[in-house]
Amino acid sequence: MRRKIPGKFKERPPKKKQSVKKGKARQKWKESRELDTVRYGVVPLVERDGFLQCDLDFRPMLPPGAVRANLRRQVYPESITPPRYFYTDEEYECAACKQAFVFSANEQQYWYEDLQFELWVKPFRCVECRRQRRNKRKLRMELTSASNALQADPDNPDVLLMYAQTTFEYFQEFQEGNLNQAIASARRALKIDAEAIAGLYWIGICQEAGQYLAAAQKSYRQFLAAAGEQKQYRPLVLQVINRLDVLADVELNALVDEEEGA
Ligand SMILES: [Zn+2]
Repeated sequence: MRRKIPGKFKERPPKKKQSVKKGKARQKWKESRELDTVRYGVVPLVERDGFLQCDLDFRPMLPPGAVRANLRRQVYPESITPPRYFYTDEEYECAACKQAFVFSANEQQYWYEDLQFELWVKPFRCVECRRQRRNKRKLRMELTSASNALQADPDNPDVLLMYAQTTFEYFQEFQEGNLNQAIASARRALKIDAEAIAGLYWIGICQEAGQYLAAAQKSYRQFLAAAGEQKQYRPLVLQVINRLDVLADVELNALVDEEEGA
């Protein structure tokens, strides 16, 4: 008769049991050669490079609005299982403006297949905030290079005008920058070369941006007089005529307000 030794079996740790279970599960997974997923349903597995991996040619049913992916163009570490068989619109919150934005299926395809971003990479910002950031970086670089050019060649009218233009463009986009310096540099260009009449245009446009409206109108009229019928100034002339119209409207509205207030 076998005697039961008290306590002996109780003390046995349940570790071994668990690993057997795990091993069995792995075995079962290997044998079944398929992976049950929430997004794509049952995905068949195939052996590739000695490993069982999701079948790249599997074509799950597309939900409405989804775009089918080309898995051979995706870049992902092996830990991502399964890869993306299709893309659907996803919604995120922009880190900059805090608005909800859609990362569209088509955009995802472009990111992951054309730009070859890894599959875990997601956008932090909405399209508009991304565009602004890119634009700001680009304009800042242009402004820096205009300043550098001005330092190297301070008496060159073209460089002076370029500096005025770049400063204005930066200001127009971001409401930052030294408009007075831009005006001074355009004036200097005119002083050095009386033919640099685009300077009058840039002076006017910087004055308008800085809300010196009467001064802006005066500069615009000076520009029109100087440009005359010269073909090369035609696009600027059209813009100036347009600006003068707008400013005349502003003036008129101010007058009406004054009369109504009196
Ligand atoms: Zn945003």
